Amino acid sequence: VCEIPSDRVWYRYWPPRIPRRMDYPKVPLFNMVEVSAARYPDKDVIIYYGFRIKYSEFWDSILRFSSFLYNLGIDKGDRVAIYMPNTPHWLISFFGILRANAIAVPVNPLAAPDVLEYILRETGAKAIITLSQLLTRLLSIKDRVPSLRYVIVGRYRDYLPEKLELKLPQLMLMDPEVPQGVINWRDAVSFNGSPPQVKVTYEDLGAIPYTSGTTGIPKGVMHSHGTMWASALNAAVWYNTAPSAIVLTVLPIFHVTGLVHSVLVPLYVGATMVLMTTWDRENAIDAIEKYGISHWTSISTMIVDLLAMPGIEKRNLSSLILAGGGGAPMPEAVAKRFKELTGLDYLAGYGLTETFSQTHVNPPHRVKIGSDLGIPQPCTDALVIDPDTKEVLPQGKTGELIIRGPNVFKGYWKKPEETKEAFIEVDGKLYFRTGDVTYMDDEGYFFYVDRIKRMINRAGYKVWPYRVENILYMHPAILEVAVVAIPDLRVGEEVKAYVVLKPEYKGKIKPEDIIQWAKERMSAYEYPRIVEFVDSLPKTATGKIDWKILQEQERKKVGGK
Ligand code: AMP
Repeated sequence: VCEIPSDRVWYRYWPPRIPRRMDYPKVPLFNMVEVSAARYPDKDVIIYYGFRIKYSEFWDSILRFSSFLYNLGIDKGDRVAIYMPNTPHWLISFFGILRANAIAVPVNPLAAPDVLEYILRETGAKAIITLSQLLTRLLSIKDRVPSLRYVIVGRYRDYLPEKLELKLPQLMLMDPEVPQGVINWRDAVSFNGSPPQVKVTYEDLGAIPYTSGTTGIPKGVMHSHGTMWASALNAAVWYNTAPSAIVLTVLPIFHVTGLVHSVLVPLYVGATMVLMTTWDRENAIDAIEKYGISHWTSISTMIVDLLAMPGIEKRNLSSLILAGGGGAPMPEAVAKRFKELTGLDYLAGYGLTETFSQTHVNPPHRVKIGSDLGIPQPCTDALVIDPDTKEVLPQGKTGELIIRGPNVFKGYWKKPEETKEAFIEVDGKLYFRTGDVTYMDDEGYFFYVDRIKRMINRAGYKVWPYRVENILYMHPAILEVAVVAIPDLRVGEEVKAYVVLKPEYKGKIKPEDIIQWAKERMSAYEYPRIVEFVDSLPKTATGKIDWKILQEQERKKVGGK
């Protein structure tokens, strides 16, 4: 994997000390916690609104939880879903599942019940771990998932301190008791039985995070312990993260970027995580000042929100030594303002669920503002091809980005056709087709142009127009609909629906009615906030609705590309 041609121009700009060939660990992923626990048993691994968990306690909980799963009968390769926001339960569950040689299926806690059902059914999940707050949603679909035998339920209160050190988010105030008939988290995590008698290797599958394609149908992305290790090690080496780091873990950790940069890197080096369940700028600033946060991986929309906070100039952000992120483009003006405030270059990076987070990152010592991707990571090759002819394009030319590297996924779960289509052979080697349009400059820095796939990126949450349209089509008044992204300062891209009404409804229904209807049926991040009524929609030669024209129209309105 590490045989990347030696003439790639970006090598010159790699941070110092990085070897051309990396030795990725050939051990299971949870080994990183076991080693750090042996090295720093009494050090805090997690601080959760003031509740502290030491490395030794964390590893002990992981072992107990994995013993519990093993004694339930969870076997090698069984799928176990994690359906909750960032909490200590999530982290213990994830490593506990891996230690039992099962496969973790992280699910977005904001996912609508039909998406949750789809994922649980497709993976044939045997068990699920959730919070009492989300139980009603799970129970509404549970009977339609025959494979699901065990439901383990925790409460926020399981890990809250007597005296809070940060403001408790509104969302966490709703914290019902764990009802009868399900397994209480507290029993699972204090289980006192024999540890799993299984041998786990780095080649075993460890996680199936979900993503969606052009069709809007979710796809499970298969990652082994090895592919996850590769991302974690690349990131730790790239940033040269020290054990003294205090990391703000506020990106959602069900998503690969949050998991790699805000969880795996600190665990690997033996650092401390300040864990937050929801994004709240006041809390983030308080945490930076209180705990001396040194490392923070974010998404550009968080930075925009933070910079808009009244009185931000008077706060003390001097402990930050590294801030960066990806998942969506970072507006140049925002990066500049961030630098004025903190003195730090925002390290933009790029990656996908299929590559378990970053394939490119700006080098800390030589950031190029405007390069949303940065340069390729260790052992990673990146080429730009013409998406139609499949020819490799020279530097400076715009085309589809293709990737080869140690963190590239093993295929889509139960989707051999889609897996085949996701790869392309160049010079006898297989590359992953990202579906993103980029170009590379003469120093090997990559620039983001657009996506071939039609995805809307709302504050980092990926919205799939096809799915939104499908649901909108169920509205009795809607004749035709096309969903597009409109540029938005706060969330990056906002979801907009162009709607053609059935004649009999004209004048009888308002855009607000459609928005309200959609809000009741879709995830909080995906329903359209803007609905515009039009008389007709543009069509392609084959009669398909031409959403690209509408998309173009929206871009022009704000003077964008
Ligand atoms: P996901 O699989 O949910 O992580 O989504 C991956 C997609 O996010 C990519 O295919 C890109 O379209 C988008 N993305 C990730 N990083 C960046 C970035 N730095 N700039 C622009 N888009 C990005």
